[in-house]
This record gives sequence, structure tokens and C-alpha cells, in this order.
Amino acid sequence: MKLKQIKQLANLIEKSDSIVFLTGAGVSTASGIPDFRSTTGIWTEDHSREYYTSRDYFFKDPEDFWLKYKDIFQVKLLKNYQPNKVHKFPSDLAKKGKQVSIVTQNVDGLHRLPGNNQNVVEYHGNLNTASCPKCGKTHNLAYILEKEVPTCTNRDCQAILKPDIVLFGDPITKHAEAEATIESSELLLVLGTSLLVTPFSLLPSYAKQLGLPMAIINREGTPMDDLFDFVIHDELMSVVTQLEQLL
Ligand SMILES: [Zn+2]
Repeated sequence: MKLKQIKQLANLIEKSDSIVFLTGAGVSTASGIPDFRSTTGIWTEDHSREYYTSRDYFFKDPEDFWLKYKDIFQVKLLKNYQPNKVHKFPSDLAKKGKQVSIVTQNVDGLHRLPGNNQNVVEYHGNLNTASCPKCGKTHNLAYILEKEVPTCTNRDCQAILKPDIVLFGDPITKHAEAEATIESSELLLVLGTSLLVTPFSLLPSYAKQLGLPMAIINREGTPMDDLFDFVIHDELMSVVTQLEQLL
């Protein structure tokens, strides 16, 4: 049953010239990155962590915010993580001439593989950079790690930087871009997300309205499974390996 579904999905991928991927934590767990929101993830271990990484707390006490933020997101480990086979799957399809876009909830930046030209929308931002709230200057991970509390290198400014991820309480600014990406695609593939976080979780319904064929591959069932033409509950790595062999 599952094998037949995977074969049908491979055919659909083969026939589609443009594909949009919606991805979540399940894509990065194989790279050793903890799922920040799953039941075994660190958010549920201690609800105060949600408060310490909120927009309110950043503006209230930016110095203590940075200490907590670096600890909670294990920022100094970021440079050790490598993209895995699931991250490489979309770029392999792009190499075969398909137009590939990715809308990801992940903040680890691992979809931005060196040398690929696929369109990546980082819906919840990226942990690898931080920007100045005053002048907008972006600073890289090496700089963020260099100082306990990173401040803007622009001498006229020196404001405490704000991480480039969407903090609790921050507005989502990429939703329209994500919808536009879906509009320009022929097939939607959801990988490794349980679609529990809104407004990201509204994107499959949007694709459905547009009439796109849709598939989801996730270890567990999701509240949106009924929307999909293909629902595969299995280890992502194993399904992607099988798909790669068929393509
Ligand atoms: Zn500045």
C-alpha cells in the first residue's frame, strides 16, 4: 500500500514542472537539531522559555534576553549542523530542471544549501543572523557569538541587535510571499511538519483552493490530512530515499 503510494507520488513529481515544499522540524531532526515545538522538544519542557524568547521580553530586558535566547536555541551549536538528504531532495529536483520553492518553518538555515538557486522563504526567520532595530544592518553568526550581547557595528548606532527569527509576539511578514510561491507552483509537498502552528498551517488550505495536487509525508497524522491527495505517515528519510530511487 505504502509502496504503491510512493510510486504514484514519484510519478506526480516527475510530471510537475514546478514544486513547492512546505517544511518543518521533521526535516532537520535527522541533522541533530531538536524540534523546538514538539512534545519532546524544549518548549514544552518549560513554558517560561516561550516568555524569555518573546518580543515583549526582548524590548523589556534585551541583555538578559540574549543570554536566554542563545541558551534556548543552542546558537553556538548552529555551525556544527549539516544539511541531510531531505534538505538536498528539493535541490536534486531543481538540478533536473524543475522550478523548486521551499517555504520552511525551520529557523536553522539548512535549506540554504551553498550553490543552489531554489527560492527559499524562511517563514519564521533564521537563527544565523541578527539585525539592528535602528538602522537595519544585518550581522552574521560569527559576530553574534563573539559578544555576549551583540550590538550594532555601525558606530552611530550601537543598538542591541534583534535576532532575525520571528519571536513570540512578532508579526509574520512572509505569509503573502508564501502564498505567491504556492500560486506559481503545480504541486505542493509537505515534509516533516504536523501543521499545528498558525498561520503557516493555513497554507495547505490555500493550495487546495487553487486546486493544486498535494502530498504530505510526516511521521504522525496531522489535523490537515484530509486535504491531501497523498498522506504518508512514515520516517521522512526513508520515504525520500525511496522517492529518490524512483526519480
Ligand atoms: Zn544599527
